[in-house]
Amino acid sequence: MSERWYKEAVLYCIEVDSFQDSNGDGIGDLAGLISRLDYLARLGVTCLWLNPVHPSPHRDDGYDVSDYYGIDPRLGSLGDLAELVLQARQRGIRILLDLVVNHTSDEHPWFQSACNDPDSPYRDWYIWSDTEPPDRRQGVVFPGEQSETWTFNEKANAWYFHRFYDFQPDLNWTNHAVRNEIKKVMGFWLQLGVAGFRVDAAPFVLEQIQAGVDPAMKDFSILDDWRQDTQWRSGDSVLLCEANVPPTELGKYVAAVAGGPNDRAQMLFAFQLNARIWLALARQEAEPLIETLGNLPRLPAMAQWCTFLRNHDELDLSTLTDEQRNDVFRAFAPKADMRIYGRGIRRRLAPMLGNDPRRIRLAYSLQFTMPGTPVLRYGEEIGMGENLRLHGRDAIRTPMQWQNAPRAGFSTARDKDLIRPVTTRGAYSMRDVNVETQQRDSNSLLRWSGELIRVLRECPEIGVGEPSVIDAGLPRSVLVHRFDAPEGSIVLLHNLSDTQVTVELDGIADRTYRPLEVFSDSDYGASQVDLTRLSLNGWGYRWIRLRRSNAV
Ligand code: MG
Repeated sequence: MSERWYKEAVLYCIEVDSFQDSNGDGIGDLAGLISRLDYLARLGVTCLWLNPVHPSPHRDDGYDVSDYYGIDPRLGSLGDLAELVLQARQRGIRILLDLVVNHTSDEHPWFQSACNDPDSPYRDWYIWSDTEPPDRRQGVVFPGEQSETWTFNEKANAWYFHRFYDFQPDLNWTNHAVRNEIKKVMGFWLQLGVAGFRVDAAPFVLEQIQAGVDPAMKDFSILDDWRQDTQWRSGDSVLLCEANVPPTELGKYVAAVAGGPNDRAQMLFAFQLNARIWLALARQEAEPLIETLGNLPRLPAMAQWCTFLRNHDELDLSTLTDEQRNDVFRAFAPKADMRIYGRGIRRRLAPMLGNDPRRIRLAYSLQFTMPGTPVLRYGEEIGMGENLRLHGRDAIRTPMQWQNAPRAGFSTARDKDLIRPVTTRGAYSMRDVNVETQQRDSNSLLRWSGELIRVLRECPEIGVGEPSVIDAGLPRSVLVHRFDAPEGSIVLLHNLSDTQVTVELDGIADRTYRPLEVFSDSDYGASQVDLTRLSLNGWGYRWIRLRRSNAV
């Protein structure tokens, strides 16, 4: 067993307001989530990442916080959160909260005070300019929905900076009062028992917005500070950074010195890998993955990637070239309303892959065998679809489909009172896609997902071993990679096309190794695996452990 829980975890990302409603108001809540913990434990997830749970005007799905010390009353109370932490812990499940501190809501009392009174102690908690900044239309994050990054506030009689929407004024991280307050916020939730934080928009927190200062200059001492403080308060707490930055920059989010100890965030989302998994799936070629796995920045031994296929945001393809991005768009988002911000896709995974169970399983097998800790998004385990009639990223935030029943078992409220409509039409309706039906069907995606998680837990070398790619003389559609750890080695084969192939892996293991197939898309009929001649179905995958023949 490895020594750090997050290296063998399976994360599950939940939008609390869309998961389970307990009180019939049409909005999912913490008590509802508590009632579904047994389901999550049975699935095998070990850590829940909750999208923001704080009071908020909800103009950006809770990523506009108006009180960092509270719980959105629609979701429940602080008591409910404490109860969730306790109930989850009893099932071996940890809780991560979203830490959204690049900006506050413009309704946060700090910003209100800053606007209303030039002498307010909170004035300097935000970023102001008395004159119109010449670059105020540059650096927008949501093109098409956002036109500027500096907006004039009449009460304050000044311009304030907002990297995201105009209702999300950026906090001034050069102000030590801000730094101290946010450390108190983190300490507060750690005291309540959460296991750590998913740090929203980390690069933007670290950028220093000041007249005459290049925003590319980042202040990483903020991360140093957070790591020291959280570790002091709770020894096994973690920071998981959202940082979609070039590979050369990524190392700074986990270590102060390249190759040095892991003294900043413990975990990073693998954005580059994510985009290239989709490119490989679109082109049905292993090459983008071979290249990316070969070039993955080396993290300190205790740091860890977090892998994902889809998350709560758009599928961000901004790190691909135009040609690569167009290939992914053509394959998986052929219509304009499936795309967003010119760079991404607002769809869920199952529809992107044509609801083909073979391709869906291939994609998850790929994700789960990449270096890192996998993150699942709620509803992925049953293959939920999107609702493109909903605005922007709400398309992928529809209520969890528990049953073929009114409101999918999500709520007892009337349809018009639901936070977002339940999917009742088409191939992804609650009739065809729901937990209850899939629990009874041994061939369902849900049952398969549970199996995937169990097998992964039995193969710790995937999370912690040294990855490498075998790319000699293989068909273009085939990815073969392996992990080597003191416990043993594992070889993983994936066929990204629908054409059956035969793969020869002569010489990758000598005769002192005993190959053992632990997971595959179908029964390849070999208790003794012959590495010199391995058949692989279209969209097929095979996980083959190599163990010393004298080992148990
Ligand atoms: Mg409710």
